[in-house]
Amino acid sequence: MPDQQDPYQYSQYPQYPPPQQPYAAASAPRAMAFNTVASQGVPGTAIKALVYVNNQLVAQSQPFTSGADPVQGSRYSTWHGAGSEVRKSKRDAEVHALDWTYDVVANMQGKQNVKNFQVDLVVTSGTCNECKERQQRFVNDIARILPSAKSSRTGQWRIKLQAIYDNNRDYPASAGRPNAQGIPTSSYGYQDGRTERRVSAAALDAGTPYDSSQYFSRSHVPGGSAGYVDPRSLTRDPIPGEPRTDRYSPNQSRTPTPPKPYSPPKGRRGSSPGR
Ligand SMILES: [Zn+2]
Repeated sequence: MPDQQDPYQYSQYPQYPPPQQPYAAASAPRAMAFNTVASQGVPGTAIKALVYVNNQLVAQSQPFTSGADPVQGSRYSTWHGAGSEVRKSKRDAEVHALDWTYDVVANMQGKQNVKNFQVDLVVTSGTCNECKERQQRFVNDIARILPSAKSSRTGQWRIKLQAIYDNNRDYPASAGRPNAQGIPTSSYGYQDGRTERRVSAAALDAGTPYDSSQYFSRSHVPGGSAGYVDPRSLTRDPIPGEPRTDRYSPNQSRTPTPPKPYSPPKGRRGSSPGR
């Protein structure tokens, strides 16, 4: 149910015109974002942010890659009291995407009319523990900027960050960032009950031994948990059940086309429909 009129000034993002349909399938920009980040060809991580306001895609970032210094005045590279793992990960791609998205929201006109905010962070590898914390801090910050996105009826926030990641080999989480002794000091990806397995229209890891169209998704909401995964308690269990297709709108409760169960095509495991 889109709002009648869009009060936002898109002119400040001239390269990203608003979509024509309020319910443009989330999967299309998401799949395109996957294609974009997967084709960056960097040894590290690539990420793209898709910003939805009142269920409309209003902005998307350029692809950001890991390894670049954070911008001046970065809010999410590090913070007072942050530990060494945060400092080690301050050049992660997520830092750039979060700083960029924060600026988009902070400068957005008509903020008082935002009833629903979502950012999809489409990224080539699982979110490390420190970026999980960054993402949680981000949604907590956004709740302060967008108080109108709290339902007066239910008291629930309609603010969400979705980590949408390809973690390879179809496991939602893996150990990472080993120290000098080779012991992992962080974990990539999530494995709690909020973590979902889905299948993308994009070809992920095309041509690799892990060729797959599966990705994982885990949302952050204001005041929620960051989803930290202790590398010592990692499980190698895939998420049970069939992955869902990703062709639904950002707000699932209002989607006109509910997600359909995914059925793998005959003969080829892991390939996506319509490819
Ligand atoms: Zn990270």
